[in-house]
Amino acid sequence: MIEEVIVNTQQEELDPFKIAQRQLYNACKLIGLEQDVYQSLAEPEKFIEIKITMKMDDGSIKTFKGFRSQYNSARGPMKGGIRWHPEESESLVKALSAWMTWKCACVSIPLGGAKGGIICNPKELSENELQKLARNYIRKLSGDVGPNIDVPAPDVYTNPQIMAWMMDEYETIIGEHAPSVITGKPIELGGSEGRSVATAKGGTYCIREAAIDHDIDLKKSTVVIQGYGNAGSHVANILHNEYGCKIIGISDSKGAVYNTNGIEPYDALAYKKETSSVVGLQNTEPISNEKLLEMECDILIPAALENVIKKKNAKNIKAKIVAELANGPTTPDADDILYKNGVTIIPDFLCNAGGVTVSYFEMVQGYYLHFWSEKEVFESLDKIMSKAYRDTVNKAKEYNTNNRMGAYIIAIQRVVNAMKLRGWI
Ligand code: NAD
Repeated sequence: MIEEVIVNTQQEELDPFKIAQRQLYNACKLIGLEQDVYQSLAEPEKFIEIKITMKMDDGSIKTFKGFRSQYNSARGPMKGGIRWHPEESESLVKALSAWMTWKCACVSIPLGGAKGGIICNPKELSENELQKLARNYIRKLSGDVGPNIDVPAPDVYTNPQIMAWMMDEYETIIGEHAPSVITGKPIELGGSEGRSVATAKGGTYCIREAAIDHDIDLKKSTVVIQGYGNAGSHVANILHNEYGCKIIGISDSKGAVYNTNGIEPYDALAYKKETSSVVGLQNTEPISNEKLLEMECDILIPAALENVIKKKNAKNIKAKIVAELANGPTTPDADDILYKNGVTIIPDFLCNAGGVTVSYFEMVQGYYLHFWSEKEVFESLDKIMSKAYRDTVNKAKEYNTNNRMGAYIIAIQRVVNAMKLRGWI
């Protein structure tokens, strides 16, 4: 029998790493995994905390705290993005590194999981300070990352330029080219075609398959999206322009808007670029971010933050499918309520795995110094995502559980098998 992860307070209930551990516990219980094996999966292999002290443009000295959580390396080099955010925390980095492990295993790419971050507000830093921070971070971690060890990538508030500086710093240290040390690079420096839209694209392949299962005609379907950044704005474009879906509600950190007759995604993006928010977009009405999630629609796509669907609001969700492009948008209690109410979830580490899958393609292209067309990238991505979706749904049916647990069971079995073959357990 394995010991349950108990949460006593609301703060603990919403703590990202506790949530990741509770999900893992629930899946391990379903497959009857032994306590000691569960224990070995419930914490990162290695957690690194660093301090970066640097001189700012105005001559002042500032110290930033950074992290790298290397969760599990049994299936290959570890992989995971780097977040720069004022609210970055040890718990969030650990949770995201766990989800990266399950993500890579679920879509069956030969990588382990990791994640990194720096507590900072990049919006307040100059270009010169951003570059210094990027180079310092990789210098502190240079012995712990590498194409065959741990391969970082962009995440919230980091971008291809930051990846280029990090790659350059790493190559300077080791004295040779090593493009596969990092992914999400600019195309000119070995980035992959299709990487910028890969997360959204991968999500739409899952949505297409889920629509078939639920007899939803996407051309007549309605979609609500929370968050209009990289993942959210691209998924809106693809679903509207390639699948004919009607986008009826969108939001960002400043608020939400809706129009049941449909919103044109390109217009919304142009308006957001001009005004920095979708709020006030022509031909839309304002709505609260909470009410947006509860709108009547076929597909709801959280594409912003963690813990937005929880015990309090889960019963009000009216969508038939929740496609989680964000990491960790639904708490375990909310999962149970949605499952009971017949709402289908495409779980985060399946739905948003398109990003890491194309990052993996970028590593492969970097090893061979041979680059693929966008068409080749998307065809390969479609195969991987469609298969992972089918495997997940079938596993959930086999265990009479929800899709999140189905995806966890596939991932855990693959990781445990690799650990056994290596003789670790
Ligand atoms: P981003 O920074 O480009 O966009 C985030 C969006 O969320 C912005 O529009 C922001 O305004 C909005 N937002 C912030 N707070 C909000 C709130 N309270 N209510 C509504 N909207 C809010 O980030 P992104 O890259 O699009 O990532 C979004 C999510 O997708 C994250 O959970 C991230 O981990 C996940 N994800 C992204 C990728 C990727 O390749 N971009 C890959 C895997 C997972």
